[in-house]
Amino acid sequence: MRDKIVAGNWKMNNDLAQTEDLLSNIKNLYKENEGVRVIVAPSFTNLYHSFESLRNSKIEVAAQNMNENSEGAFTGEVSARMLTSVGVKIVILGHSERRAIFKETDELLAKKVDAALENDMEVIFCCGEELNERKAEKHFEIVKQQLEKGLFHLSEEQWEKIIIAYEPVWAIGTGETASPEQAQEMHAFIRKSISEKFGSELANKIAILYGGSVKPGNAQEIFAKEDVDGGLIGGASLKAEDFMAIANAF
Ligand code: PEP
Repeated sequence: MRDKIVAGNWKMNNDLAQTEDLLSNIKNLYKENEGVRVIVAPSFTNLYHSFESLRNSKIEVAAQNMNENSEGAFTGEVSARMLTSVGVKIVILGHSERRAIFKETDELLAKKVDAALENDMEVIFCCGEELNERKAEKHFEIVKQQLEKGLFHLSEEQWEKIIIAYEPVWAIGTGETASPEQAQEMHAFIRKSISEKFGSELANKIAILYGGSVKPGNAQEIFAKEDVDGGLIGGASLKAEDFMAIANAF
């Protein structure tokens, strides 16, 4: 059985007091559900506090990004070791906002993936097409390319630390969600692509999350699809009630 995962990407939201509030509300509403992992990804400045605050809880903490270098003259950047030193063992890489706004390329992301794995971290690797690419029916090609360039150099052992998040860019923060069928179609394609390269045993172990305007009202039908193993949640993860309703949608 694959892990089911619901991860909240808080993006550049919540100062320390707001982080404390949200964590405390999430902790109060959290119901342990065997086989379902709940992860929150606060900003860098709130990671240590979040980790401390969740110390006796099963809720996990992820970072939203990291630098590919181990240390040195990279002003303003944060390394994998800095993250692991405060207890963080999961990092989101390749979010479409990092790709679009901060110009992160597939080649750079492959280096970031390597750095995370060298530090024994799990990676939530985001992929997904833009609206014009879907309209041009290039969505499968684009996602396959992102996977090939970002992840296909890894060994089978390294894949144990990989979680994939399919996030069609046109559905992120727009209120527009891919239909459960569109999500399933792409998730099955992703699994098939991994299977063709690494075999079905490995492909069947990889959790593939859907991201893009998931809400309490649509989570259940999306998560019910065979190849959808959970969600990466943006806006709705900023409200404890909504986020936990999504986590309880399994
Ligand atoms: C995201 O940014 O990863 C995301 C899925 O955002 P939203 O849920 O707000 O669409």
